[in-house]
Amino acid sequence: MSGKLRVLVPVKRVIDAALKPRINKTNTGVETKGIKFSMNPFDDIAVEEAIKIKANHKGLIENIHAVSIGPSKSQEVLRTALAKGVDTSTLVDVGDQEVEPLQVSKILKKLVEREKSNLVIMGKQAIDDDSNQTGQMLAGLLNWPQATNASKVEVNGDVVTVTREVDGGSETIRAKLPLIITTDLRLNEPKFVTLPKMMKAKKKPLEVLKAEDIGITIETRLEVLSVEEPPARQSGVKVNSVDELVDKLKELKAI
Ligand code: AMP
Repeated sequence: MSGKLRVLVPVKRVIDAALKPRINKTNTGVETKGIKFSMNPFDDIAVEEAIKIKANHKGLIENIHAVSIGPSKSQEVLRTALAKGVDTSTLVDVGDQEVEPLQVSKILKKLVEREKSNLVIMGKQAIDDDSNQTGQMLAGLLNWPQATNASKVEVNGDVVTVTREVDGGSETIRAKLPLIITTDLRLNEPKFVTLPKMMKAKKKPLEVLKAEDIGITIETRLEVLSVEEPPARQSGVKVNSVDELVDKLKELKAI
């Protein structure tokens, strides 16, 4: 089967996963000034998986298209995706506006239709808002089957077998394309992108649109009332022997 798959990979620009976010002065979100941003780690895994399928099944994938919805700086995560092997990309530039998962799903639906995608591989969750909603809502809007929290993906023509991470084990399911897959951490380990590949990616297509260009007016339906840090952990005590440990635990009435 040749040129069968058209893959769409949504990639979100988020605060770098290695950083500890600080809450802003108004307690309504995290501080974003002067902070390093990167591709959402689960989306990095999604990009890696799309590229892996392309490499392992010569001629099966016709196109891998990355989409980001965010400020104009989100072009950086699209360039990274292109450098990793994605073919084409779209930024839906919404400036600094927060876009809720339902709105993201509606935008993605439009792009899936325009790109004639039949497989969407995306993160199970964006690490900034931890919503874990977009994939599921996109599946609902498109009326497509979904395989969430994937730890293994096997493509055989237009049939895809996905192993899912579930509480205390795994579940294997099979579906026919079109399909939405959301990625879990164990699916693969994304490779670092090299500088020459980053340079080459500058020549790959990156289109910039406004939400209105695809007929979407962004609505905000949620208001963040407050964001709080978790309570600080109490410092521990060092003990020198097992006896001392047992005494301490007794003192604390833990045993
Ligand atoms: P969420 O439902 O917000 O936790 O996000 C789940 C997944 O949806 C992410 O891992 C991305 O693949 C995709 N996604 C969410 N927001 C965006 C965005 N602004 N731009 C591109 N993809 C997004």
